[in-house]
Amino acid sequence: MPTNTSNIEAIFQQQKDNLPALKARSAQDRIAMLQRLKRAILRFRKNIVKAGAEDFGKPEAEVDIAEIMPLLSELANTSKHLQRWMKPKRVSTPITLFGASGKIVYEPKGTSLVIAPWNYPVFLSLGPVISAVAAGCSAIIKPSEFTPALSAVIREIVEDVFETNEVAVIDGEVETTTRLLELPFDHIFFTGSPNVGKIVMAAAAKNLSSVTLELGGKSPVIIDASAKLDDCIEKLVWAKFTNNGQTCIAPDYLLVHRSHEAQFSNELYERIASVYGRDVTTQQQSEDLARIVNPRHFDRVQSLLVDAKTKAEQVLGGHCDAEDCFISPTLVVEPEINAKIMQEEIFGPLLPIRFYDEIDEALDIISQQPKPLALYIFAQNQQIIDHVINNSTAGGTCINTCLLHFIHSNLPVGGVNNSGIGKSHGHYGFLAFSNERGVVRDHLSLSKQLFAPYTPRVKKILQL
Ligand code: NAD
Repeated sequence: MPTNTSNIEAIFQQQKDNLPALKARSAQDRIAMLQRLKRAILRFRKNIVKAGAEDFGKPEAEVDIAEIMPLLSELANTSKHLQRWMKPKRVSTPITLFGASGKIVYEPKGTSLVIAPWNYPVFLSLGPVISAVAAGCSAIIKPSEFTPALSAVIREIVEDVFETNEVAVIDGEVETTTRLLELPFDHIFFTGSPNVGKIVMAAAAKNLSSVTLELGGKSPVIIDASAKLDDCIEKLVWAKFTNNGQTCIAPDYLLVHRSHEAQFSNELYERIASVYGRDVTTQQQSEDLARIVNPRHFDRVQSLLVDAKTKAEQVLGGHCDAEDCFISPTLVVEPEINAKIMQEEIFGPLLPIRFYDEIDEALDIISQQPKPLALYIFAQNQQIIDHVINNSTAGGTCINTCLLHFIHSNLPVGGVNNSGIGKSHGHYGFLAFSNERGVVRDHLSLSKQLFAPYTPRVKKILQL
């Protein structure tokens, strides 16, 4: 059945009817499905690259690094461990339940809805599907309407690999998503902005659907006096300007120790120039810089820059070409703390830099924002690293690098409160789509000793 919006409810029902069959599938059957998905991703790789370029000038290498490779890694990790993850897990039994035993049985939650954003559309829609399939759930994917060429390839891949009653794609805008959100899904996996996350959670509450919310926000970077500056600068430029800053865990703003003030901004900008070109024409022609996804987001990022120009000491870069949805890699030096660029998630190629004298000043700035999705530390001084970790919170942290926690297959990925609820990837993704069912088996029937009537003997046993 073609998956258009007129048959949303029918597809949901088909998937619901198919749940017993999905649940009954062995680890081997589920792995076979995942391997079919792997082959399709490799077969469609060229189409993904072409669509990424068409939608917003995504560089081919960035499609490979941030869309294809993480998917292949998720597939490999899940296929390798799924049998073990699915196995019921024995747990030790407390003395108070002597004579009984306990285990956790992993059962699929059931029907699931995966709502994906536009910045890494392939990984962020098919990644959760890997976890859903592994757990034995069905899935409806709602890709972003902002990247139609990539959504079309996602649909082709899904229709090539899955039956509609296993995994289906439903395209659409807010109206379609709203209709989907009215359905009583067993689990909703949403990746996107905190504002829409709240809408999703409110809709999920009506059906008490469980949710995983992978959200965004401002991810700070602390650069201590002890940081190795060259190494830090090289890593920051790649992490920030990959996908032209449109990465949920991109460094959003830098807090740099005052001892680096004299050289930091110029050295960082010099690195930008050596990677992407010294003049705006070269930068705009660089095949390594994606475009801003659409005019709406271009206007949003440009307005952050316009506001920052009146509230910062210096701006390096800052070239904007609306027709091409292009903004050049830009450093905003010492913006006021109340500038919009220091208050809103940037999600574009602007990088504010503020200098601090004491580490607690940096931590104060961070604690005034909602809890970040990622917090990065560049330092060689272990006491500073420990102090930062012990006096802050974040969904994930990298020390002396950025972004890599996202692709470490054995780490949970997700935010805290405003930056997200629940974790994903690998085993954590499998658990997100599983109900961990606690099962107790009574062997010796000793609990009967405590049953009514509560004779003096019962009271004696209960004497604590
Ligand atoms: P978004 O929240 O605008 O959209 C995400 C999805 O929600 C899209 O499919 C969209 O169609 C749908 N949507 C939009 N408005 C809706 C509404 N009113 N009701 C129901 N559905 C609606 O986010 P975006 O612009 O696509 O992506 C950027 C945001 O996503 C950033 O905040 C970024 O940090 C975050 N993000 C987070 C992660 C992560 O792993 N935590 C990854 C990528 C992006």
